[in-house]
Amino acid sequence: MFWLITFFVLGSVLGSFANVCIWRLPRNESIVWPPSHCPHCQGKLRPQHLLPLISWLALRGKCAMCQGKISLRYPAVELVSALLFAAIGYKWQLSVTTLQYCTLSLALIISVATDISHREIPDEVSLGAAAILAIAALLTAQWGHLLGGIILFSILFLIAVVSRGGMGGGDIKLALAIGLGLGWKAGLIALVLAIVIGGVLATVLLLRGTRGKALPFAPFLAAGSLIAMFWGDILAEFYVSIVMGL
Ligand SMILES: [Zn+2]
Repeated sequence: MFWLITFFVLGSVLGSFANVCIWRLPRNESIVWPPSHCPHCQGKLRPQHLLPLISWLALRGKCAMCQGKISLRYPAVELVSALLFAAIGYKWQLSVTTLQYCTLSLALIISVATDISHREIPDEVSLGAAAILAIAALLTAQWGHLLGGIILFSILFLIAVVSRGGMGGGDIKLALAIGLGLGWKAGLIALVLAIVIGGVLATVLLLRGTRGKALPFAPFLAAGSLIAMFWGDILAEFYVSIVMGL
């Protein structure tokens, strides 16, 4: 219970930081300066307005100064981050795995949001996470994680070359972070799931005649990664049992 609550709080705080990154990085603004302000009245937010989740609930989704509406995205990102951190902390407690999965989760949350809003995954997020995860793998001699980074990066790079830009550079760098964070086995499961889920949805949209721009891929990479993170072992066993049973 201790870890559940501790990581829930930690996740909500980092989710609040993720919100800053989601808004500012695609706009090429500094994430440390100026301090947080209301997008409507530009008023500087006071410390009591910066509490993750609580402030939004207390203010009922409105700016304390101008009553301008605060996007539901803010508490949503904080809640998703808090729940993911709590689940990871509960399952893996205080460990290198927890550090790796929390780092990756935060990078995935920011990437999904900016990929949907700006069709862009900031390098600060993908390569920043990749650097932290590469150092963690090196320090703990987890060669499978380094191999995972190389494999996922290479596969998406090849897809990008073959499809002539059908896969963006941001996706390739995010895949590098995913491989480094999950290791090669869970990383490959994540990639296969992302392609399958993305392919199914793209086909459904195509059949319904809503053909638009290509779908952002980060949400599918994130979905695949989270499924592989929590249930990768079970999926791998299931897959092996099917192959052996043939
Ligand atoms: Zn305001």
